[in-house]
Amino acid sequence: MTKRALITTAVLVVLVGLVVVGYHVMANREEAFCGFCNRPIHANSKVVAEIDGRRRTVCCARCAISEAYQEKKTVRLITVTDYISSKPLDPKQAYFVDGSRKILCDHDAAMLDETKHAYPLTFDRCSPGTYAFARREEATAFARENGGVVVQLNELMQGANAQ
Ligand SMILES: [Zn+2]
Repeated sequence: MTKRALITTAVLVVLVGLVVVGYHVMANREEAFCGFCNRPIHANSKVVAEIDGRRRTVCCARCAISEAYQEKKTVRLITVTDYISSKPLDPKQAYFVDGSRKILCDHDAAMLDETKHAYPLTFDRCSPGTYAFARREEATAFARENGGVVVQLNELMQGANAQ
């Protein structure tokens, strides 16, 4: 191989590498950041929700419900995450702590509007906190410590889909 051919090959290898890495970054982005508020998704509050028939990975249940309220859309929780074990959980089997003081979604990572001004934090789409638990005792213990009430899916979604 000539020196020129070697350089060309090296450049090609780097370019292909960049494309592959870029593809993975884009594919993982949807998993790593909330489909609504763009905040990083926490492993123990991640929710997969279907809003108006479109499936998205969301930072927390409250964020998905806020979207439904604001946009007057129908929301359905597909998968939630057990706060304790970070394992996926069927929302129908879950106990939710609703209205908790504990907010995982970072207020410092405030959303920016079109003019790049941060929204006033009087309203936060991820507040009050709503988290899922596999076991009722764990939900009750969390609520005792962090505030909120333990509810099941139908109670949690009451109102969210009432338009
Ligand atoms: Zn969110």
